[in-house]
Amino acid sequence: MNSSFRIARIFGINVDINPSWLLVFFLFSFTLSTHYFPGMIEGFDTAVYWSMGIITTLLIFASILLHELAHSLMAIRSGIPIKKITLFIFGGVAQMEKEPDQPGVELKIALVGPATSLGLALLAWLIYRPLPPDLAISSMMWFLARINFVVGVINLIPAFPLDGGRVLRAGLWHFMKSMLRATRAAVALGSVFAFLAIGLGFLLLFQMYWVWGLWYIFLGWMLYQAGQASYTQLVFQQAFKGVSVSRGMSSEVQTVEPDLALDRLVEKFYRYKFGAFPVTYGGRLRGLVSYHQIREIPQEKWSETKTSQVMTPADQLAIASPHQEAVEVMMKMAAENLGRVLVVENGELVGILSRTDMMKLINLHMQLGTEK
Ligand SMILES: [Zn+2]
Repeated sequence: MNSSFRIARIFGINVDINPSWLLVFFLFSFTLSTHYFPGMIEGFDTAVYWSMGIITTLLIFASILLHELAHSLMAIRSGIPIKKITLFIFGGVAQMEKEPDQPGVELKIALVGPATSLGLALLAWLIYRPLPPDLAISSMMWFLARINFVVGVINLIPAFPLDGGRVLRAGLWHFMKSMLRATRAAVALGSVFAFLAIGLGFLLLFQMYWVWGLWYIFLGWMLYQAGQASYTQLVFQQAFKGVSVSRGMSSEVQTVEPDLALDRLVEKFYRYKFGAFPVTYGGRLRGLVSYHQIREIPQEKWSETKTSQVMTPADQLAIASPHQEAVEVMMKMAAENLGRVLVVENGELVGILSRTDMMKLINLHMQLGTEK
């Protein structure tokens, strides 16, 4: 997702496009221009079919953007800032900076997207209806009406995190009075839909409908993954809301001194079985040394090489303050794929925040589903 590029800024919302969209754009234009439109109306030039295909694909693109903009504007109106809209292979995602804090707000934000798609379907149909069927624009409008209808209906399937799943969650949330429990139920139902799609995909495979079969399996799997990911993220945010780094970190840290020879350091690795040791001198952080760095030195030189010669110096390390929000630091660790962050206050090492400890805590929250 990081390779997306920005194409527009609408109502202060950045609109990014994922490179996968270019492939979809080509596939759609190609299929429409060479199969769909020639099958609907005969006798046009190839250039006309291609123009129809490309314009229709652009209009589909605009429809999906409008769907996401509708979500975004409703979110902004409800006081939820939108980071950006990313358009990718299947459609788009409007990234909200936080989850809605009331079921009513969630309901409005979720419903306005499919409503927009269904509205666009109706609009395209109203344009199509009075026109003679042999016009290029008629087939284009007919196709747009159908695709927007399908987008609207698919998004209403109550499988979280699809819009319909969000509608369902808003309802459950209203009755259960707990967003986390409502999300868990909505995600569970979403998984049922995901597995149904995968099952259908396999059935189609056995019937030799390869493309449709694989497509359903792929969509089902994506849906399952998306549901799990959004639940994990929610649990994570709820569990660590207001928790500072100092509460999540372990403060009993085994450190080594910069002058320690590598052969002695190796003994320490064997004894504690850690992946790395912070290097400190008089309490102050000097660096971090991992066993990978020892491996780069030939064994016969271990006794004459100091830890400080192989370690990563402190200024190149990921460091957190004990007063920072744990969630913020964890996000950074996930984004940069860091296993641990050293917690430093006024140059002194006060603890380590490791991914393993945080994951254990997250897992506990997920299994128990308790709210804080
Ligand atoms: Zn939507």
